[in-house]
Amino acid sequence: MAVLADLTIADMRTALAKGETTAQALAEAFIGRMETHRRLNAFITETPERAIEMAKASDARRAKGEAGVLEGVPLAIKDLFCTEGVRTTAGSHILDGFTPPYESTVTANLWQAGAVMLGKTNLDEFAMGSSNMTSYFGGVENPWKRRGDNRKLVPGGSSGGSAAAVAALLAPGATGTDTGGSIRQPASFCGIVGLKPTYGRCSRWGTVAFASSLDQAGPFARTVKDTALLLQAMAGHDPKDSTSAPLPVPDFAAACSGDVRGLKVGIPREYRVEGMSAEIDALWQKGIAMLKAAGAVPIDVSLPHTKYALATYYIIAPAECSSNLARYDGVRFGLRVPGKDLAEMYDNTRAAGFGAEVRRRVLIGTYVLSAGYYDAYYKKAQQVRALIARDFKQAFAQCDVILTPTAPTAAFAAGEKMDDPVTMYLNDVFTVPTSMAGLPGISVPAGLDGDGLPLGLQLIGRAFDEETVLRAASALEQAAAFNARPAGF
Ligand code: GLN
Repeated sequence: MAVLADLTIADMRTALAKGETTAQALAEAFIGRMETHRRLNAFITETPERAIEMAKASDARRAKGEAGVLEGVPLAIKDLFCTEGVRTTAGSHILDGFTPPYESTVTANLWQAGAVMLGKTNLDEFAMGSSNMTSYFGGVENPWKRRGDNRKLVPGGSSGGSAAAVAALLAPGATGTDTGGSIRQPASFCGIVGLKPTYGRCSRWGTVAFASSLDQAGPFARTVKDTALLLQAMAGHDPKDSTSAPLPVPDFAAACSGDVRGLKVGIPREYRVEGMSAEIDALWQKGIAMLKAAGAVPIDVSLPHTKYALATYYIIAPAECSSNLARYDGVRFGLRVPGKDLAEMYDNTRAAGFGAEVRRRVLIGTYVLSAGYYDAYYKKAQQVRALIARDFKQAFAQCDVILTPTAPTAAFAAGEKMDDPVTMYLNDVFTVPTSMAGLPGISVPAGLDGDGLPLGLQLIGRAFDEETVLRAASALEQAAAFNARPAGF
């Protein structure tokens, strides 16, 4: 058996079932790596004692013949999921001192399946960002570096801590959330697989809200099959979330066959955007060729409203965030900065508690929802959103899955793009439309750029058809045979 940290989740399940290792040995191996690689700042809170306690309980269950889908598998949890008795920060100062008295449904489902929590990972504040630079707890370092260049690179965002942890083998899998790309873009920047399920596939209950009509939890892992195993445990109807879909959870791992013979793969012509690097375009063409060689049929499709997706997203997401974040007022939980009266206490708390990006979005959101502007901005954006969703519907009348690049660039250096929010927002140009339409999308590492940095390709599917997405992603994974690792990990 290979070194424990090298094992995929699928391999871990086999090794555990055969008695070649234990949940406790696995937890200890990853706890050791988390300590060694603390400089990455991937975790906000490490929970080694809880990990050992959960691992021992898992080994005891296995000894009694009870084993869930993820029995004994250690995981990193984005610090946006509430975890009972373990502080939850959302990467923000405003939640200072907040320890949830309840567990999010997604994490409860994972523990129910036998998984073990290693700790809570770093993220952009309230999941707003594409670089992890907006976290109150400092940026996360991408384990990858450009060849011959020692500058620190960002892991992407907002789930950058989770993606960096998986890429650096600090955990075999992790949870993330994706509102406009926060699972797929960091997966691409870190050379791992990240899956955003259909909106409604996973419950949002107990997950700190950013933009409620877009937020969706999903997994990170090093292989497509591992993300399928994780999603299997995370997903499911939850009566506590009225937007969670009352649908059975399919056998996602069984869908990872890679058999794409006859599958129609749509190539949207509008995704050839200005500013996309030639290398990413070349990788996209390679992806098309690989799926074709595996028996799929590439077809040209059109998503004509793509060019409005970012502008629409940056109205709807801030609008919803301004409303969701109104609850952080210093009264009920988190930070409180006193003032001479209640209104001043609100002002002081929110001014001290929120970082610049969150304040920017609350301001934009409040503006677009204000009387007189609501119709011009918010309502218009909702109408355009419906057109974006219709584009996909029409495209999926012709194809089964859509292939695009995940992001227009590879990982960039820490601090780059921070002075211009619009350049930063452009990072999400390929991921935001899927989110607006509520569809499932996956990023699969498909190659390295000239600097030796990983690049991902995205596959988008019909609503609640994660199985086809996983099937095509497995074919891409097999053909790309991406097995590069960041140096030193
Ligand atoms: N980068 C996007 C944003 O800043 C998406 C974030 C996300 O998906 N949570 O809003």
